[in-house]
Amino acid sequence: MLTAGTLDNRGFSRADMNDALPQLQSHRLRVLLEQVKASNPFYQRKYASLGADPATIDWRCLPFTHKAELIADQSEYPPYGSNLTYEARRYIRLHQTSGTSSGRPLRWLDTAESWDWMLGCWSRLFSFLDLQPTDCFFFPFSFGPFLGFWTAFEAATRLGYRCLAGGGMGSTARLRFLLEHRATIICCTPTYALHLAELAAQEQLDLAGSSVRALVLAGEPGACIDSTRQRLESQWGARVFDHYGLTEVGPTAIECRANPGGMHLLEEDYLAEVLAPQGDRPVAVGEVGELVLTNLGRIGSPLIRYRTGDLVRIDPKPCPCGTPWRRFAGGILGRTDDMIHVRGNNVYPSSLEAVIRRFPEIVEYRIIVDQTGPLTDLAIEIEPTPGADRSLLSEAVARAIRDELLFRVAIRTVDPGSLPRFEMKARRIFRKSADD
Ligand SMILES: [Zn+2]
Repeated sequence: MLTAGTLDNRGFSRADMNDALPQLQSHRLRVLLEQVKASNPFYQRKYASLGADPATIDWRCLPFTHKAELIADQSEYPPYGSNLTYEARRYIRLHQTSGTSSGRPLRWLDTAESWDWMLGCWSRLFSFLDLQPTDCFFFPFSFGPFLGFWTAFEAATRLGYRCLAGGGMGSTARLRFLLEHRATIICCTPTYALHLAELAAQEQLDLAGSSVRALVLAGEPGACIDSTRQRLESQWGARVFDHYGLTEVGPTAIECRANPGGMHLLEEDYLAEVLAPQGDRPVAVGEVGELVLTNLGRIGSPLIRYRTGDLVRIDPKPCPCGTPWRRFAGGILGRTDDMIHVRGNNVYPSSLEAVIRRFPEIVEYRIIVDQTGPLTDLAIEIEPTPGADRSLLSEAVARAIRDELLFRVAIRTVDPGSLPRFEMKARRIFRKSADD
């Protein structure tokens, strides 16, 4: 059994980190680029026009990789695309994203070595959670082709923790299962954790008094939104830990115990840049920019300077937990493509969520972006708890949004149980356009 103490030794001491890290990163990057140069058709084509050896030039001069390119590549070289460094038989895992904005899932193959690297990433992420030998993980997750928590499950079992799979059962069955088997750590999306808590209240199951002590939440922002976090922590009687990872990139960042409301990046496994959205220049430390990632250990299907579209801000202050790994203050702040422009205001869905989740009488909500007319219109549908005063609630939410975000929005209440519930990433923005 590896304990928190042994896990804390991440290969070199914290005191040495600043000196050792750049060397370690550049060594891993060189190994990656040499392999890619030798046998990865996608990057060979991409780097052909560089006129220089990609392994020897400044890596910041390498071209970006975009998700649209990967999707186009998979259409052109079906079914898995050409971002494959090795021959087909070396790939033992296939996962895919839950769907892209073009509707097509992105498929991703992994070799045993890449998979092992991702399990290692999780071991390092778990070291921030202060795990106890008696911890028992529950994964209320379908274990389908979405990568989700497959790697977390395997990494935790490899570290010696009991791990319970929650595939193939409904939400109520999952609740009874996690209570009966005294799970202590639950891994899911923030939306699903909210849904389970709502259901537990209906079924009169005592979550707050259960053995659950931590929620590891991923897949969407929420865990770092104060009002959502407070609601989850009180409903579950457990500490929330935000986690960030992408199917096509790997497990990347997690919140530390000492400093809630942000996530540390696994610096030894990733090169991370924070650039002006859609631009190519780094923003100053402390400013919001787009996260651009290079994974250093997934050599069979790597991503080099990948534009994630996720917005982050590097915390300029050292973290009280002592790790020098950079920290995304406030977690993932939004996406470069999900900003809503409405009557001269730029609004991120996460700012709306921060206000809406402060009202305990709102169970679920949906943002309607209406682009059918000459001006974009925004409305919010809220689903109140049974018995809540609908008109008072709508007025209070409209007022809170007006006072804090400085614009007016129509609030409509809908019947209890009428808005969709989600197990994986929630889709709470509903766009209507003139083309519909
Ligand atoms: Zn920290």
